[in-house]
Amino acid sequence: SIILGIESSCDDTSAAIIKGNRILSNIAANQAVHKEYGGVVPELASRAHQQNIIPVVEKSITKANIQQNAISAIGFTRGPGLLGSLLVGTSFAKSLAMSLDVPLIEVNHLQAHILAHFIDDANPMPPKFPFLCLTVSGGHTMIVVVKDYFDMEIIGKTTDDAAGEAFDKIGKIFDLDYPAGPIIDKLAKEGNPDTFKFNKPKLDNYDYSFSGIKTSVLYFIQKEVKKNPDFIKENLNDLCASVQKSIIEILMNKLEKAAKELDIKEVAIAGGVSANSVLRKAMEDNHEKLGWNIYIPKFEYTTDNAAMIAMVAQLKFERGEFTDLRTTATAKYDL
Ligand code: ATP
Ligand code: FE
Repeated sequence: SIILGIESSCDDTSAAIIKGNRILSNIAANQAVHKEYGGVVPELASRAHQQNIIPVVEKSITKANIQQNAISAIGFTRGPGLLGSLLVGTSFAKSLAMSLDVPLIEVNHLQAHILAHFIDDANPMPPKFPFLCLTVSGGHTMIVVVKDYFDMEIIGKTTDDAAGEAFDKIGKIFDLDYPAGPIIDKLAKEGNPDTFKFNKPKLDNYDYSFSGIKTSVLYFIQKEVKKNPDFIKENLNDLCASVQKSIIEILMNKLEKAAKELDIKEVAIAGGVSANSVLRKAMEDNHEKLGWNIYIPKFEYTTDNAAMIAMVAQLKFERGEFTDLRTTATAKYDL
């Protein structure tokens, strides 16, 4: 069946059309308004969603080259995310489902990041259950055991900042634009990752912590800038490479521990930070070294996108899992 997916949980308004497991269109309007504030401003995000949603949905239908009446159901992100942003997508999805007289299907944004691996062009072969998925984004960092499409167990998660948040906050210390993750990745390519060392958290289980490294970078920079006001500028590439190396090592150490202790060799990554080149390289190394079967999403399925929402909606459609029109958006939403 043909399904329209709508994503509006944060600062990207996105719509996608899926047919079976195949994406026919995946359109996104990114919101530039937040750049000058160094982070997403919720009130501005909701307003931009309100402006973008109709053109983005129309474009997704045109690009997919289908008639509006070919749509069998509407999938939308119900949560987690910014409530004001979610409300725009939720209200729009409800209205459209009502006017087209098709079922409505709610989608958990985090499940969608993970289940994006089942889009037909995401991987040559989809992961086999049970698989581990390191889900790393702007708001979440967790290791998930995916036992089935809708049977997921979080075995470890961050106790403070998310990894993407750490990239973004440290980038702010370096005076980089928001979101700093992709900028750090790029600048790090010209830097030496072994120049600076930062504190690593000591947690026994599968949990993460990223506030320590952020503080450690902040104090180090404050101290150095006092001695040399141009310290950041002169060392930016090495700083980025060193910070990136530390964050990715923290992420991979726990993932390796989980894979070993649970004896699972099917290992995936998902979420915005899974676009990171060093993380992707570390996964490839473990395919060689540890014999992991690895699943690395295409770039367009890493950060927020409606293709992944449409994918989950398709899986739920096949299972007859529909959502009552009286449903409401939810800022917090467990897996
Ligand atoms: P959540 O999915 O938890 O609700 P979100 O939707 O805001 O959060 P995503 O869009 O999945 O998060 O990911 C955005 C995050 O990914 C940002 O923190 C951004 O800096 C980070 N990111 C994107 N590309 C890279 C990269 N190449 N290297 C490191 N981080 C990256
Ligand atoms: Fe996301």
